[in-house]
Amino acid sequence: MIIDSHTHIDNRSSLGIGIEERNPAEFDDFKQCIEEKKLVVLANAACPAEFDELSKIGGIFTSFGIHPWSTHEFCHYSDESNSADYKQIQGHIQREVNAMEAYYKKAHAVGEIGMDSVWCTCDLTLQRELFMQQLNLAEKLGKPVILHTKGQEREIGEILRHYSVKKLVHWYSCEQYLENFIVQDCYFTVGPNYTINNAVKNIISSVPLGRILVETDGISAVEWAVGRKTKAADIPAMLRGAIEAIAGSKNISADFAEKSIEENFYRFLEI
Ligand SMILES: [Zn+2]
Repeated sequence: MIIDSHTHIDNRSSLGIGIEERNPAEFDDFKQCIEEKKLVVLANAACPAEFDELSKIGGIFTSFGIHPWSTHEFCHYSDESNSADYKQIQGHIQREVNAMEAYYKKAHAVGEIGMDSVWCTCDLTLQRELFMQQLNLAEKLGKPVILHTKGQEREIGEILRHYSVKKLVHWYSCEQYLENFIVQDCYFTVGPNYTINNAVKNIISSVPLGRILVETDGISAVEWAVGRKTKAADIPAMLRGAIEAIAGSKNISADFAEKSIEENFYRFLEI
């Protein structure tokens, strides 16, 4: 079975756009593919409303967490805020994260969570606080975590050493620090630009077969990465291409690679 180990089914709600603006065609396309068992997904929910919506899809696996890009919105932080407000904001983060504990608990994994200094301008002190509060909760609940590390690979590698949770580093695309994560027994997803991005190629060649997974990160990410229109029904063939690349690198058959990746997914989620 082909498994998309990290995706967003219409990810606009994670960017702060209301659930009522969901793309119904995309949602229905995924629902059909998943319920007809053409694809298994671990889909990300970035707020309770999105989690409830995704839960309507039979057989779906879900992760739940506040994305680093949403840090300012989550903290009600604005340009007028200043560092004197940090203590108050930290208290707010802790209370708000704990208030959603039921959702973190219902999800199969906590994520995607992390830090980003490349694609977002949110204050890094607040990003770190939000990230660590969610790690604390994941550890308390015994949940695996899905990590977004863009531009903050070095720091996140250090922070993770303090947490004994199962870790999946999603679409790692940095040419440094990979070893810091491999020694922590992390799982890794191969992102959709595996044919053109050297760091992603490096994941395929450097990560052991027992820790490797494949992902799309959602339709819009695929379209960005490969530059062509994509729909849910295209995803199994696309991920099979990534599996074939892994098989080629590890000198094994694609079917054996697919089976190993499937085992990795269920081991990661402890299902
Ligand atoms: Zn994502």
